[in-house]
Amino acid sequence: MNDKAGASGSATTTASTAAAHGFAEWFGRQPAGVWSAPGRVNLIGEHTDYNDGFVFPFAIDRRTAVALGDRDDRVIRVASSFSPEAVTVHLDELSPDAVNGWAAYPLGVAWALGEFGADLEHSRGVDLHVASDVPIGAGLSSSAAIECAVALALDEHWGFGFDRPTLAKVGQLAENRAVGAPTGIMDQSASLLGEADAGVFLDCRSLDADVIPLGFDADGLSLLVIDTRVSHDHATGGYAARRASCEAGARALGVESLRDLRPADLERAKSLLDDETFRRVRHVVTENQRVQGTVRTLHEHGPGAIGPFLDASHVSMRDDFEISVPELDLAVATAQANGAIGARMTGGGFGGAAIALMIDALVPVVTREVAAAFAEQGFREPAMFTARPSQGARRDA
Ligand code: ADP
Ligand code: MG
Repeated sequence: MNDKAGASGSATTTASTAAAHGFAEWFGRQPAGVWSAPGRVNLIGEHTDYNDGFVFPFAIDRRTAVALGDRDDRVIRVASSFSPEAVTVHLDELSPDAVNGWAAYPLGVAWALGEFGADLEHSRGVDLHVASDVPIGAGLSSSAAIECAVALALDEHWGFGFDRPTLAKVGQLAENRAVGAPTGIMDQSASLLGEADAGVFLDCRSLDADVIPLGFDADGLSLLVIDTRVSHDHATGGYAARRASCEAGARALGVESLRDLRPADLERAKSLLDDETFRRVRHVVTENQRVQGTVRTLHEHGPGAIGPFLDASHVSMRDDFEISVPELDLAVATAQANGAIGARMTGGGFGGAAIALMIDALVPVVTREVAAAFAEQGFREPAMFTARPSQGARRDA
């Protein structure tokens, strides 16, 4: 346990220290403050968000930090260890189309704060430097981490006083409009509301969020992320097609969204829908049940009992939603065969990562066996690391 605490502690310091150092290097002075926000893993609840359903992610022990310092004018300048160039925009010229590339995330957040009523006209300019140990594009939402770190930094520094659910919407608006990615509110909610050894149970219709203790620490459990490093060209098209099927299913069944269906409605669904649409609908209906079942089971029996929900979630995504790939199936099956409590693919599908919950001592075993199984199949070597449920966005210095 000690080594786990040490690892997450040093990871936190790394991003914040790197942001402060980068700030001094780029801008030739010390920052006024440093804020950080974590990436996230979705424990369960996949493709339920846009169906007004439930998701249950947690914030992880990998963070993006932003160091901030005042300027004498009304310019925002952003730099990142991720990029060789700083980007500058006048506060009066913020718009969702002001910049392209990575700077659209932090500058989009500054613009989005204004859309939520922040008085940017009386704010002084700032310099920002971003550093991160959230892997980019590995399904851990480095995008939400940078948005939420910047949102909290600007909110606290400029004294707007937005609550965290509103800051989550600010991050989402930035991602939707300034970046142009049609994502939901899950990632930002996890990054802003997460707590140590807890998950964020989010109702995507009401946006009510409950922090639920996970108890991984007390029970000596680890969550292993197996990033297959597979990404398919048809991921975007596949996502759009699944969304369209869900909308068609809801329309045919006369409900506003699939959230409004219960398992008892599936019989009627089967008689009304074509087989493919029916299976898409069944995934969403049963996945919502599994998310709620996971939360209830954690409360009643602890984390060692949630495995069947994770396993069933994978089967549903593989067979009903049809968004898995052989690499994900192999990662899940190998983890299960080597004693994992439960395992499933996570994220949008067509590649990306699987997660497996297990007792701490099994991590080296499962890591080794998954690597061997991938090698045997001739699959690309996966990247594997544990993700520890950790505190959400905060000020670090
Ligand atoms: P992810 O699954 O990691 O969220 P996305 O494509 O949604 O993948 O977001 C990744 C993008 O976010 C990067 O390409 C970059 O534009 C931006 N980003 C993330 N982290 C940083 C960072 N530390 N510095 C600059 N830009 C970042
Ligand atoms: Mg993202």
